[in-house]
Amino acid sequence: VTADRLMAARVLDGKAVAARVRERVADEVADLEGRLGRPPGLATVLTGDDPASQVYVRNKREASAEVGIRSIHHELPADVGEDSLLGVVDELNADPGVDGVLVQLPLPDGIDQDAVVDRIAPAKDVDGLTAASAGLLAQGRPGLVPCTPAGVMELLAEAGVGVEGAEAVIVGRSILVGRPLAALLLNASATVTVCHSRTRDLAATCRRADVLVAAVGSPRLVGGDWIKPGATVIDVGVNRTDEGLVGDVDFEAAGEVAGAITPVPGGVGPMTIAMLLANTARAARARAG
Ligand code: NAP
Repeated sequence: VTADRLMAARVLDGKAVAARVRERVADEVADLEGRLGRPPGLATVLTGDDPASQVYVRNKREASAEVGIRSIHHELPADVGEDSLLGVVDELNADPGVDGVLVQLPLPDGIDQDAVVDRIAPAKDVDGLTAASAGLLAQGRPGLVPCTPAGVMELLAEAGVGVEGAEAVIVGRSILVGRPLAALLLNASATVTVCHSRTRDLAATCRRADVLVAAVGSPRLVGGDWIKPGATVIDVGVNRTDEGLVGDVDFEAAGEVAGAITPVPGGVGPMTIAMLLANTARAARARAG
């Protein structure tokens, strides 16, 4: 008997949802181009020569081109210095043809990452990582939202998972994923618990969840006996192991108990770039007035 046959859970297809988001964005971009007299523009800033960052930025630029977003790209050496990098961000903030500014992280040692990110104009903060955007999100006010947590919310909505009044448990409290997702779920009226490395009884807390999100970076940490029967399980984790890419959830075991579950790869991953494109279109629309 294969794991497939034991699966009780519906598998949430992030690739398909991401494709629908990209189609929607392409239509919006075409409409915006008509109104603005120019395509929406996304600026990417790549500092140093981290191979993973190079791949991420290339993928983002290619995805932009596919939906008609103009890509403006800056590549800076690892020893660029903080002032020069801040200068590039200032230029892009002032450039009327640029709707979104993305500074690829991590930045080289010796550069204050928070200072650089916070320099991005909130109206162009398509990664949603500035303190200004985080503050708006925390207060439940409109603003640009980090792409991965925005993708999780989109997946839940597309899957018809109601979060209002639900017990939502997030494992992980990073600025990139856990914290903004907690704010999004709270704003959507879930009852939110955020777990981390100091949480006392992680398994018991996870077992309370109607919606369980793992954003840890620990292969198959979340076992089948951590899942409440029928729960929706969203696996944000991406871990390279000898057996290939695996998530933070034991997919086979959890899939026997959950009502719905995202695979890795093909779940949350494809949503992240799709939401970056959606954020860029949104920023362009807001700037168009
Ligand atoms: P991160 O900054 O390393 O944060 C990890 C969080 O997990 C921390 O809050 C940490 O707690 C917590 N944690 C670590 N070990 C734990 C344990 N044994 N029990 C409970 N909590 C534990 O990671 P991140 O940037 O949020 O990313 C998380 C995962 O998502 C990674 O695998 C990453 O590759 C993946 N990711 C995927 C996408 C995507 O597009 N699919 C995007 C972003 C990230 P403390 O705060 O106490 O240290």
